[in-house]
Amino acid sequence: MKKWLLGKSLLELREITDNLKLPSFTAKQISQWIYQKKVLEIEQMTNLSKASRDALSEHYIVGGTKWSDLQKSSDGTKKYLFPVDENEAIEAVMIPDDERATLCVSSQIGCKMGCKFCMTGRLGFRGNLSAGEIISQFINIEESDSISNAVYMGMGEPMDNYEQVLKSIEILTSDWGFGWSPKRITVSTIGIIPTLKRFLEESKAHLAISLHNPSDEIRREMMPLQKAYPISEVIELLKDYDFTGQRRISFEYIMFDGWNDAKRDADAIIRMLRGLECRVNLIRFHRIPDFELNPSPDAVIDLFKKRLNDAGIVTTLRASRGEDILAACGMLRGSKK
Ligand code: SAH
Ligand code: SF4
Repeated sequence: MKKWLLGKSLLELREITDNLKLPSFTAKQISQWIYQKKVLEIEQMTNLSKASRDALSEHYIVGGTKWSDLQKSSDGTKKYLFPVDENEAIEAVMIPDDERATLCVSSQIGCKMGCKFCMTGRLGFRGNLSAGEIISQFINIEESDSISNAVYMGMGEPMDNYEQVLKSIEILTSDWGFGWSPKRITVSTIGIIPTLKRFLEESKAHLAISLHNPSDEIRREMMPLQKAYPISEVIELLKDYDFTGQRRISFEYIMFDGWNDAKRDADAIIRMLRGLECRVNLIRFHRIPDFELNPSPDAVIDLFKKRLNDAGIVTTLRASRGEDILAACGMLRGSKK
């Protein structure tokens, strides 16, 4: 089986070209072909000599996977299904806006974290994606040239596949790669402390934390990982870092009727986030089968939002996009229906 070039850093491409005894500038050329011109075949790398292309083609292909299914929402959102390995599949969601197009990418097949409200969590863990498989989601879509932002909010827990996620961000943000500013990228996590700590040190991308409940005891009811990494400790860690500059932190908060939408919850959030420069994104709960909680009524969401805003925490309600094609937050499960 030939290996993929996609997902390799410039350093790794240089190792490849060195091993094949190709001129050293070839590595940079290859990175430009795959990440900037987004060619799908080595044959298309026309500034490489025929001999170089042949040598490369003996062991490598550009790689990447074409989508196998595409669904379009009435609001313009598009959900792409990509096959992975033999029998698995992942999804990426393209969300158009007035002047932006955001790609919501997956980092794993399924997820280990087992949050009770999440379809991806229901799937269980089926495997990690490689950096190449993450980057392929940017390349093998109809909008590959117009994506302005990326959110790691698709299937999987990015901090549970940290090395590959970090590498994919390196490819997106390097001048030899996509050349993006890290400000165009947001990574969402449930809060796995050891890798979150590394992420805070090693990346400049924006961070989103899935909060969902300010109480250590109550959060545990829906999010088993809370036992190992309590949200209170996640917040303590975050307070050691500076979010007053370019890098932003936001908290995602799904509004559940009667579970986390009372005044005391808002008060606890206000206390907890004191001293941290951040925003809160409220999310409408998207119902999933066999799950007891209901979405909070709109009036309750409005009041909750007002409480946080009045306390000086910038709080917005995230618009649900692509709900009709099961593309909204927490609905991805890598299947057609
Ligand atoms: N594993 C990471 C990245 C996934 S992001 C994380 O959990 O942060 C997906 C976001 O959608 C998370 O904030 C998640 O909590 C939220 N979500 C999960 N299930 C949902 C549902 N049924 N309705 C609304 N949001 C949901
Ligand atoms: Fe995994 Fe995030 Fe879903 Fe929890 S909400 S199960 S961490 S994908």
